[in-house]
Amino acid sequence: MSIPQHIADKLLADCGRRCCICRRFMPLHLHVHHIQHREEGGADEPDNLIALCVTCHSSVHTKAYMTRNFTIEELKRHRDNTMAAVRDGRWWIMAGHPNFQG
Ligand SMILES: [Zn+2]
Ligand SMILES: [Zn+2]
Repeated sequence: MSIPQHIADKLLADCGRRCCICRRFMPLHLHVHHIQHREEGGADEPDNLIALCVTCHSSVHTKAYMTRNFTIEELKRHRDNTMAAVRDGRWWIMAGHPNFQG
């Protein structure tokens, strides 16, 4: 089973095809990640999905020591904040980011 196309379409459009963590515009290098992993019962629902670039996706799946790993709540906030910034055209938020492009 895979993510329904209309759900992926909406997610990618609402975040402007930006990575929801580093917020870089990555039109062809975005993955749709399950915030709660599918093996743990995570659903193919909009609230459980986030668009991530390849680099950030790899970080989210990495269990690191001596640093805080990503939590479900944090990931949802990154997604919601990114979508709100895209919706409102608040590009200055992104322009302040060291990885900002275009
Ligand atoms: Zn990223
Ligand atoms: Zn993933």
